[in-house]
Amino acid sequence: MTVYLVGAGPGDPGLLTVRGAALLRRADAVVHDRLIDARLLGLAPEHAVRVDVGKRPGDSAHQGDITRLLIELGGRLECVVRLKGGDPYVFGRGGEEALALDAAGIAFEVVPGVSSVNGVLAYAGIPLTHRGLSEAVTVVTGHVTPLRAGGSSPGEPAPGDSFQGEPAPGVDWDAVAAVGGTVVVLMGVAQRGTIARALIGGGRQESTPVAVIESGTSAAQRTVRTTLGNLGETEVGTPALIVVGEVASLDLSWFERRPLFGWTVAVTRAPSQAAGLVQLLEDQGASAIEVPVIEIGEAADGGEAMAEAANLLADSRARGGPPGYRWVVFASTNAVGRFWDRLGDVRDLGSCLVAAVGDSTAAALRDRGVAPDLVPGRFDARALVDSFPTATSSGGDPEPRVLLPQAGGAGPALAEGLSSKGWEVDVVEAYRTVRRAVGPDVARAAASADAVAFTSPSTVAGYLDAIGKDRLAPVVACIGPVTAASARDSGLRVDVESGVHTAGGLVDALVAYAAGLKGPPR
Ligand code: SAH
Repeated sequence: MTVYLVGAGPGDPGLLTVRGAALLRRADAVVHDRLIDARLLGLAPEHAVRVDVGKRPGDSAHQGDITRLLIELGGRLECVVRLKGGDPYVFGRGGEEALALDAAGIAFEVVPGVSSVNGVLAYAGIPLTHRGLSEAVTVVTGHVTPLRAGGSSPGEPAPGDSFQGEPAPGVDWDAVAAVGGTVVVLMGVAQRGTIARALIGGGRQESTPVAVIESGTSAAQRTVRTTLGNLGETEVGTPALIVVGEVASLDLSWFERRPLFGWTVAVTRAPSQAAGLVQLLEDQGASAIEVPVIEIGEAADGGEAMAEAANLLADSRARGGPPGYRWVVFASTNAVGRFWDRLGDVRDLGSCLVAAVGDSTAAALRDRGVAPDLVPGRFDARALVDSFPTATSSGGDPEPRVLLPQAGGAGPALAEGLSSKGWEVDVVEAYRTVRRAVGPDVARAAASADAVAFTSPSTVAGYLDAIGKDRLAPVVACIGPVTAASARDSGLRVDVESGVHTAGGLVDALVAYAAGLKGPPR
């Protein structure tokens, strides 16, 4: 029974440490700060108790309650994760929590996190130190009364400044100014004018470069550049961090320059298929919210027809005869996966020829050691039929039979096209796409997205049912003409339609669309 004080990083969930993720995955309870990304909380198992102990401005909750809760949970649960913004020991009161646990005889461990001090600066394009510009770093809280600032009183921390401590003994701003180098001020937004005057009073120039970074490492990151002399008059939201010193004149910005920076995109694909699209969106700077409205389910007959087809192939091999089918045609990666689940031995395919619709279907076959004999140039059923040979049943050849494992409810185009070329087509249901319930948290997140990405007609229908047309994202992106047509049929305006019908093509199309705008639509 251990309480782990885990640093969550400053915002971007990718900045959680590997150890932090491993602990979250086996947590029995997660006691977390406010503003912790839902994707991190989502790592914890379903059964884990989640408690938000974030302090809200004007809320007088209390470190005492938090430590009591940690002691209570730590006394009865195996793995309690206390998830804290940034690093637990950088102005996070982690030390007080550890002291209290220690005093109560509860085992604790600390998993350091990426602090906003280094994490937010890196994402803002400002090196914390730089040879020739800054040889020292002072990290200081601004939420105290400056000792030598002309007697001004401490202001209330602004909303969003997640920390409301007891008044600290005070910071010697003359001394901070005298150290030179980089000064990073946390919790300093409310006091920024006073702090600037104190540093100038201590000898820093009014012209000293200053950067203020709001909501660093998140989709809402904003970097404001000013000088010490103008800091007091600079508009700043929270949470924010203030960087004073020559390094603040460097602009190695990359995060805010990514093509989909600031965009939140709802991904509607089945969970088993969403990862690729999510990764591609994130690579372009978007934050992706997974709103899986469908999932891949078992065939209606429980896979019986597929099992029969697989047996036919196995029997033909056992008899040493020609394969039961001359071709197996795969129209999707799911069909490949499901068929393989039924195939006892890949050699049962024998001399069967294999066709794949689409590059990802072909890749799924290659991953399984089978090089497809036919991949049409275009990713649709028509193209496959056009490039498919006409059936011949000359002497010695096996029956002109084609096995077509496909989604339940898939249209008849492929099967009819192949029949028209003289083939006897065995259509077997490989899987079905079934609706998936969307929880209220995910639905709320989806309603605030900038764009929604549809990858099949079933995602359109599922999304409209789960989220509703009135809560639809302002930008609708579809993977291809079939999906786009079904979106239009449902009364939607399609803003982005990808010419290349893959996840990569969809993201490229969205990037091209975004390039024509000044920023995300909201
Ligand atoms: N333990 C945290 C700091 C807690 S104090 C850490 O290591 O980062 C809270 C202060 O940190 C905020 O008032 C703000 O000044 C700063 N901060 C935290 N996250 C931030 C973010 N994403 N962007 C800008 N500043 C942030």
